Amino acid sequence: MLVNEEIEQRLVRVRMRVAEAIKRCERDPRTVRLLAVSKTQPVSSIEEAYRAGQRAFAENRVQEWLEKAPLLPNDCEWHLVGRLQTNKVKYLDQTISMIHSLDRFSLLEALNVQGEKRGITWPTLVQVNIAEDPTKAGLTPGEVPDFLDSIRDFPYVKVRGFMTIGALEASKAETQGFFRQLQALRDTLQSRKWEGVELRELSMGMSQDFELAIEEGATFVRIGRQIFGERG
Ligand SMILES: *Cc1c(COP(=O)(O)O)cnc(C)c1O
Repeated sequence: MLVNEEIEQRLVRVRMRVAEAIKRCERDPRTVRLLAVSKTQPVSSIEEAYRAGQRAFAENRVQEWLEKAPLLPNDCEWHLVGRLQTNKVKYLDQTISMIHSLDRFSLLEALNVQGEKRGITWPTLVQVNIAEDPTKAGLTPGEVPDFLDSIRDFPYVKVRGFMTIGALEASKAETQGFFRQLQALRDTLQSRKWEGVELRELSMGMSQDFELAIEEGATFVRIGRQIFGERG
């Protein structure tokens, strides 16, 4: 019981920090969405966040989402973050609100095949490896325009913006630089017209850097540990 009450209090605190960051940069509060990253968390913890008013959740493994989602109220909104294996795409359905990790051509193909088969059009974000870290997933900024060109050939996939993961070891200034670069990439490419592409969303910022991300234009912040505590 005590543990559960903690989640509500943590959520209230995170919401306050989000609101303060929005205020500092004079953004419209409706343009920033808080995603509770519930990966590895038990259903009881997600229920507690739900009771505290949270509706948007993010998971990073399809298997885990498949197990947990049916046990939760059906007005929960599910986002997928983290590397998505092509052989898991067949388990997805229209209750997935957004796929934040479209990071390669083979995944684009797999989503399109499955979308056509089941009559589902997937809203996605292209994951950008803004730091150009070779150990990280995502397209480099230079690869993004060609990738967006190819979206028109895959009518069951729509791109709604970009996602990035800040480097864990990066300094505050470096992280700010990455977020700023992602926003600049979005702003630059927004003026070009690609079929199936609408560059509105920026999914960036996690527990350790979400305020910075909001100041640099994030429309989705993905927060796990600050809401649920350290993962076991
Ligand atoms: C785990 C995860 C998060 C949340 O990280 P926290 O540090 O717990 O806030 C956000 N985005 C992705 C892609 C993740 O895998």
